[in-house]
Amino acid sequence: MEISVRNVRKDFDRFPALHDVSLDIRSGELIALLGPSGSGKTTLLRLIAGLEFPSEGQIFFGAEDASARSVRERNVGFVFQHYALFRHMTVADNIGFGLTVRPKATRPSPKEVRRRVLELLDLVQLPGLENRFPRQLSGGQRQRVALARALAIEPAVLLLDEPFGALDAKVRKDLRRWLRDLHDQTGHTTVFVTHDQEEALELADRVVVMSQGRIEQVGTADDIYDRPASPFVFSFIGQSNVLPVEIRGGSALFGGTVLGAAAEPDGPRRMYVRPHDFDMLPEGEGGLAGRIVVARRTGGSRFCTVDLDGVPIEIELPHDGSAVRPGDRIAVRPRRWTLFDNA
Ligand code: ADP
Ligand code: MG
Repeated sequence: MEISVRNVRKDFDRFPALHDVSLDIRSGELIALLGPSGSGKTTLLRLIAGLEFPSEGQIFFGAEDASARSVRERNVGFVFQHYALFRHMTVADNIGFGLTVRPKATRPSPKEVRRRVLELLDLVQLPGLENRFPRQLSGGQRQRVALARALAIEPAVLLLDEPFGALDAKVRKDLRRWLRDLHDQTGHTTVFVTHDQEEALELADRVVVMSQGRIEQVGTADDIYDRPASPFVFSFIGQSNVLPVEIRGGSALFGGTVLGAAAEPDGPRRMYVRPHDFDMLPEGEGGLAGRIVVARRTGGSRFCTVDLDGVPIEIELPHDGSAVRPGDRIAVRPRRWTLFDNA
């Protein structure tokens, strides 16, 4: 099912939670809504679900304007972070619930419900647990049951709001891979909300980066990471340094030192550089001179805070066996960067 969000605005009382948001979700795509807390992810998801209605704009499901349709009419499946299972029902009854409350005309027989429940338990890799109660499951198992319950109604669209948010890091990581495999098997159009960039970048076909009720960028993990569309996206994804630079005659300069070519009009810019996009230069080869303030070793890299005459930067150097210590003078040069206008 294709979903098209068109110029949607959502106000709560007078407070705008979403401003003029437009987004096209492809059929069968796994798309992640990524942004800090309060950026409007849940609001957008609830609007797609039909749990909220836009103040302005429309939401299309396929060719049909679904803006005024109910949750049931939209046929969506949900999983929320704290979407508690029914505690007094077995796993099987939880999963089959959505089918057993259907109107008589479309309700499957109890035998058919049972067959479907067992099939779904296999799909979410929990065979044999149908007679357990939720309290007899781990957190990760419960969320997989919640997902099976969402899938039971054969939804046109699957909406997941931080479904693994309450679980510990290791379990989250496993479930992330598992969800990706499940998605590839079932081919549902899936919208996944998270504030965890690693989760979004690893899981999704495309990532929608949100901030303050607006979409900042929509793209693949590579687009978002390598071609960030705004200072917000650059800073939100991964680590970043910001250097005030000057463009003069096709070169970028920092404090009089030429850093490299920049085919842009003259004037001040902000240069965004990732920590691993600095090279360390041998003495006497120019670059930006600074003094190491902090150095720490992590795996195969060395992370250093370098003071460039009052501007602190974070750099990541491949560990080549040479020692780098606080107080050492070094010279570095950015290898890759993105320039943004001064705000
Ligand atoms: P996120 O899921 O990205 O953390 P939300 O969509 O929940 O963000 O919230 C976006 C903004 O809208 C927040 O400032 C939040 O306080 C506000 N908001 C969300 N739901 C309501 C509501 N029902 N009433 C009033 N304000 C709300
Ligand atoms: Mg939320």
